[in-house]
Amino acid sequence: MPEDTVFDRILSGEIPCDSVFSDELCLAFRDIQPVAPVHILIIPRKRLESLNSSTEADESLLGHLLITATKIAKQEGLKDWRAVINTGSEAGQTVFHLHVHLIGGRALKWPPG
Ligand code: AMP
Repeated sequence: MPEDTVFDRILSGEIPCDSVFSDELCLAFRDIQPVAPVHILIIPRKRLESLNSSTEADESLLGHLLITATKIAKQEGLKDWRAVINTGSEAGQTVFHLHVHLIGGRALKWPPG
C-alpha cells in the first residue's frame, strides 16, 4: 500500500479543504496555490496514484470525474476552461493521488510549459 498523500488526508477529513462539490465517488476543492482565478481539483475517493494505475475497471469513474469537472465549470460561470491531469513527476505531478485540475477565469496559453 503506498503512503497516504495529502489528498488521502483531505478525504479522511484530517486536513481541511475549501470544498465545492462532493459525492460518493469524488471530492472537489479549491487548489491551495491557484494558477488562475478558478483552480479546482477533482479527486476520486478511490485511491489511484495516477492515470498510469487506472484500468478499464475505472472507465466510469474517470468519466465521472470529467462530467463533474464540467458541472463545476458551469457552476463557476466558466464557458472556456481547461482540464489537466499531470501523470508522473516529469509531467509535473507532485501529489500521487489522481486528480483533475479545472483551470479557468483567464485566457490560457497553449502549449503549457
Ligand atoms: P500536481 O502538481 O498535478 O500533482 O498538482 C497538485 C496540486 O495540489 C498543486 O496544484 C497544489 O497546489 C495542490 N495542493 C497541494 N496541497 C494542497 C492542499 N492541502 N489543498 C489544496 N490543494 C493542494
